[in-house]
Amino acid sequence: MNSVKGTKDIFGKTVLEHDHVVKTFEDICVFNNFKKISTPILEHENIFIKTLGVSSDIISKEMYNFKDQGGDYLVLRPEGTAAIVRALITNSMQEDINKNFFYHGPMFRREKPQSGRLRQFHQVGLEVFGDRNFLDDVRIIILAENFLSTLNIRNKLKLQINTLGDSKSRKRYIIELQKFLKNNYSKLSIDSRKKIETNPLRILDSKDENDRNLFSSLPQIIDFLDSNSRDFFLETTKMLTSLDIKFDINPFLVRGLDYYNHTAFEYIFSESKSQNAVLAGGRYDGLVKSLGGKDLCGIGWAAGIERILMIMDNMDFSQKIIGMFSTSDSLKTQLLKTYNSLKLNENISFNLIDGGNFKKKMSKANKLNCYGCLILGEDEWKEKKIIWKNFQTGNQENIPINSIDKFLEKIY
Ligand code: ATP
Ligand code: MG
Repeated sequence: MNSVKGTKDIFGKTVLEHDHVVKTFEDICVFNNFKKISTPILEHENIFIKTLGVSSDIISKEMYNFKDQGGDYLVLRPEGTAAIVRALITNSMQEDINKNFFYHGPMFRREKPQSGRLRQFHQVGLEVFGDRNFLDDVRIIILAENFLSTLNIRNKLKLQINTLGDSKSRKRYIIELQKFLKNNYSKLSIDSRKKIETNPLRILDSKDENDRNLFSSLPQIIDFLDSNSRDFFLETTKMLTSLDIKFDINPFLVRGLDYYNHTAFEYIFSESKSQNAVLAGGRYDGLVKSLGGKDLCGIGWAAGIERILMIMDNMDFSQKIIGMFSTSDSLKTQLLKTYNSLKLNENISFNLIDGGNFKKKMSKANKLNCYGCLILGEDEWKEKKIIWKNFQTGNQENIPINSIDKFLEKIY
């Protein structure tokens, strides 16, 4: 039986790596007083159509949408931001003092599956709502820096930043861009030609070599910004520089979705590959209002866990497995009682071993790769003790049952 194309079962070491990424992310968010939010995987289709833009890749070809038995048009969420904005409005959180949120979970896009590009993938992400303040842009980039450094992958990535300006500046730019693109129509890829009218900005995202050859002579948005947008960008980048955060300005960095404006950024690991972005984000002032909320500004980022795992070093998650069994069936209750009294410890897994004689149980413990075994025998039980057999050294000793936890602390 095959799984659905572009989806993966996550198990074994990979599931531990996933959990590690999520835990690292959550610890950083909690430390920074971000609040966790978990929105449904199912959303009304409208939420995304209204916000991402009909000509975005997601809406035009990647969304898993369907009409349910009750006639509602639903989707498997393709991204987190629009859903969180919806939740902010739905749950009357717009007036909250703390409007910093974080989330993680699966997202769904019907893309061509390949390495680092799945149809069900997983993101961690965060959003900050409030006034427009460049300190928020800087702050969430600091959080991204912390997150990527803690995972030991920051040095494998390049941070690229651009501004998309406000909508008026962008409109001015788009007119010039369209003029240029029309003048160079024959040099453009077929795909990009189609976008000149519908979404010229997205041509800047093209990975086609011919398109890219044109880039050096393209007009750049920075020259079309009004003074507010320019100052905002300058202040943001100036602050990043004074914080020693390394970045490049990429005048052609655009985000694939309509709702972005001003700051846009991406952490990428190779210039050439098309699935090269690990973490991407930007400012989306106006999004809350467009979904019927207040005129709140917002900024956030999301990172793909599968992409992070592609570049993360191998990690050692080896937990020590401790086998537990009794020498005879008559001690089963006592064994379970002892087992039940053990304290949870994240570095140790206890594995009850049943069936067969002593030799069989020992052989099972070996196959399970046990670090050692706790063995309950008749004589030891009378003394309220248990045998500890260390498989690494071969040593054996009797330890008091009520101090097993303390004893095992030594081997953690
Ligand atoms: P790309 O340019 O790679 O298609 P995107 O701009 O569509 O990315 P975003 O919507 O910004 O991606 O999502 C944020 C992050 O989620 C990406 O940087 C990437 O790490 C991850 N991501 C996006 N789409 C996929 C996918 N289909 N499979 C795996 N990870 C993905
Ligand atoms: Mg995409």
